[in-house]
Amino acid sequence: MSRVSFVNGMYCDYKLASVHIEDRGYQFADGVYEVFAVINSKLIDYDGHINRLYKSLKEIKLTSPLAKESYLFHIKNLVKKNYINNGLIYLQVTRGVSKRDFKFPKNVKPSVVIIANSIPKDEYEKKFSRGIKVKTTQDLRWKRVDIKTLNLLPPVLAKQIAVENKCDEAWLIDDKGFITEGSSSNAWILKNNTLITRPVSNSILNGITRTSLIKSLKLKKLKIKERPFNLKDIKTADEAFITSATQFVMPVIRVDNIKIGNGKVGKNAELFKNSYMEAVQLK
Ligand code: PMP
Repeated sequence: MSRVSFVNGMYCDYKLASVHIEDRGYQFADGVYEVFAVINSKLIDYDGHINRLYKSLKEIKLTSPLAKESYLFHIKNLVKKNYINNGLIYLQVTRGVSKRDFKFPKNVKPSVVIIANSIPKDEYEKKFSRGIKVKTTQDLRWKRVDIKTLNLLPPVLAKQIAVENKCDEAWLIDDKGFITEGSSSNAWILKNNTLITRPVSNSILNGITRTSLIKSLKLKKLKIKERPFNLKDIKTADEAFITSATQFVMPVIRVDNIKIGNGKVGKNAELFKNSYMEAVQLK
C-alpha cells in the first residue's frame, strides 16, 4: 500500500515527494509547523492547532497560502488516503523557494507540505504503563520558543542527550535553574494534590494538549498552579508528566537520578489521561 503526501497543492507518492533545494525551510528554518494527532480516525484538537499555526505564521510575518478550511480538507484527505486509524499529521509552511538571501523574497509562494504517519495503537498504552524517564539539560533555545518554528536544532540536541542517557525526553533548564519545558512537550509535576506547570510566556510553547488538559481539570475542580518549578520541587513531587499532541498525558517516573514517587506510574496518571481524552471527546 503506497503512502500519499501533500506537497504544494498536489498529492504525491511519499517516496517521490520532494521540495526544491533552495526552499527557505531547508536553508534558514524559515517556516512554521504543526502536529495533529489522529485517534480512531478522528483529528484531535484541530481548532487549537490550526489557530496556533496562524499565530506562528503571523509572528514570522508570513501570510497563510491556504484558508483554514483548505488545510482541514487536505488533512482529512490524507487521513483517508493513508488509512490512518491512529497516527499523526505533520504540516509545514515555509517562506518558499528563492535564491539564498537572508531578506524576505518578493512574490514567492509559501511551500506547504503535509505528511501522514500511522502509529501502532498499543504504542502509547505500552509506554504509558511503563512511564518515561527524563534527563535535564540546559535550555539553549532562542527567546521566542512560543512560535512553533522549524528552528529545532537545540531540542534535537537535547533529545539526543536524553537518548544517550537512556531517557525518553529532555527537560530544559533555564538560567535560573527552572524547568522551561520538554524538548517536544510541556512539563508538569504533582505535589500535595496540586498540579504545577510553567505559565505561558515567550519561553515555552503554549501546548494545545496543555490547554485542553487544564480546561478539563479545572472543570473537575482539581488544583492547578501555573508557576515555574525546579529540581528541588521535583525531588519532593508525588508524580510528574509530560503533555503533547502525540504523547497526550505521559507519566514520568524518573528525572535524572530522582525517582518520582515510588518510581512507578502514579495513581493520578490515568485520571489525568482520561480527563484529557474526555476533553477531546474520546471518552
Ligand atoms: N513544547 C514543545 C517545545 C513542543 O515541541 C511541543 C510539541 N509540539 C509541546 C510543548 C506540546 O505542544 P502540543 O501539546 O501542542 O503538542
